[in-house]
Amino acid sequence: MDRGAVPVVAEDGRRRIARTDVLLAEPRLAEAAGRLGRGVVKAAVVAAQRRARAGEIPPGAVADAAVAALPVTASGLRPVINATGVLLHTNLGRAPLSDAAREAVALASGATDVELDLATGRRARRGRSALAALAERVPQAEAAHVVNNGAAALVLAAVALAPGREIVISRGEMVEIGDGFRIPELLAATGARLREVGTTNRTTPDDYAAAVGEETGFILKVHPSNFRIEGFTRGADVAELAGLGVPVVADIGSGLLAHEPLLPDEPDAASMLKAGAHLVTASGDKLLGGPQCGLVLGRQDLVRRLARHPLARALRVGKMTLAALEATLRGPRTPAEEALHADAAALRERAERIAARLRDGGVDAVAVDSEAAVGGGGAPGVVLPSAAVSVPEHYAVRLRRGAPAVMGRVEDGRCLLDLRPVPPERDGDLAAAIRAAAAR
Ligand SMILES: *Cc1c(COP(=O)(O)O)cnc(C)c1O
Repeated sequence: MDRGAVPVVAEDGRRRIARTDVLLAEPRLAEAAGRLGRGVVKAAVVAAQRRARAGEIPPGAVADAAVAALPVTASGLRPVINATGVLLHTNLGRAPLSDAAREAVALASGATDVELDLATGRRARRGRSALAALAERVPQAEAAHVVNNGAAALVLAAVALAPGREIVISRGEMVEIGDGFRIPELLAATGARLREVGTTNRTTPDDYAAAVGEETGFILKVHPSNFRIEGFTRGADVAELAGLGVPVVADIGSGLLAHEPLLPDEPDAASMLKAGAHLVTASGDKLLGGPQCGLVLGRQDLVRRLARHPLARALRVGKMTLAALEATLRGPRTPAEEALHADAAALRERAERIAARLRDGGVDAVAVDSEAAVGGGGAPGVVLPSAAVSVPEHYAVRLRRGAPAVMGRVEDGRCLLDLRPVPPERDGDLAAAIRAAAAR
C-alpha cells in the first residue's frame, strides 16, 4: 500500500471514502496544511472525495489524488510557460520578471527600508533608489514618479494638469487599450474635457494650434500601440507641438527608455523628451520588461504637481513593485529583451533539438518556422521570425491543463509551441510537459 493512502473499511466490509478530518490528518496533507493553509488543502480533499464518489478514482486513492491536486502555492495563480509566440501576453501578465527582479521582490516582501533612512533612522523618500535608477537610465528626465500602471499615469496627469479643463487630442489617437478600456473615456472620467482635433487619418500641427487656448490643460499624444493606420495619413510630431505654449504629454505606452533598433517605429522616453515632450507616460510591464507600474518622466515642476496631487496617494505602488522596477532598471537584460533579441537560427536549433528528443520518445513532433509578435505591449504589425515545436492539435488542451501549464497556439490543425518567448533554460520543462501531454 502507498505510504499515506488512507483506506477506511466500513463495518459491512465495503471500502468507503475516508472522512475529511481523517484525510486532513494524513501526514502529507497535514504538512501541506501547515504550508498552504487548511482551507487550500481542504478544497483539494473535498474535490478528491467528489471524484471518488463519482467513481473516477477508487476510494483508497483519495489522499493520493488530493496530494496530486495541491497547488504549488497558497495563491490560485499557476505558473505558465508562454509558448504563444506573443512576447508580452496581456492574459499571461505581460512581461515576466528577470531573476534579479524576482529576488528583489522576495527580499522586499518582508520588512524593508522603503520609506526609512537606516543611516539616520528618519523617514525617507519612498522608493528613492528606484527613482534614482530611472533618472540614471533616462538622464533627459528632470524628475520621475511611479504609479500603479500606465492608465494611472494618464489619470494623474489629467487630474493634476487639466482639472475641469481641456486635453487636446487627435482623433487618430483615441485608442482602446483592451478589454473595453478606452483612453478617451478614462480621461473624461477625471472631469477633464477632451478637445478632439483632426481626423482619424490626418491631424496637422495647425489643427492643434487652432485648438490650444485659455482652456487647454495639455496636449496629449497617444502612441497607437496596438493598431496601425496606413495610406493617406499625417500626424504631428511632439517636436511640432512643443512650442505651442502648453505642456505636451506623450503617452508612449511600451516603456522603451531608449531607441530600440529592432523596433524602429516604437517611441521611447529619451527621444520624446529630447523632441520636447514635457512629460512622458509609459507602462512598466511592456517592453521595459518590469513589473506592472506606470512611469511619469519629465519636467520637474510638472512631475511634482502630479506627485503632490491628493490622488497620487491612491495610485502609488507597493514596495515589491518598487523593488522589481529598480532591479529591472539596474539588472541584466530582461526576459522580454532576451526574447526580442533572440536569434532566429538559434530558436530553430532549439526547436530541432526538442522535436528530435520527443520523436525519439515516439511523440509526433517537428520543428517548424514560425512568426512571433511583441503583443499587447507595443510594436503592432512587427513580425519577429521565430521557430516552434509543432505537435498534434489536440495536445493544446492537455498542455494548457498541465502543470506547469503550457500555452501554445493552434494553426492549420497543429499546436505550435513558439520558442521566442520561452527562456532557453525552460526547454527541458517544455519538453517534459509535451511528453506528459502525449502520455495522457
Ligand atoms: C498599454 C497602454 C496604456 C495602458 O497602460 P496600462 O499599464 O495597461 O494601464 C496606455 N497607453 C498606451 C499607448 C498603451 O500602449
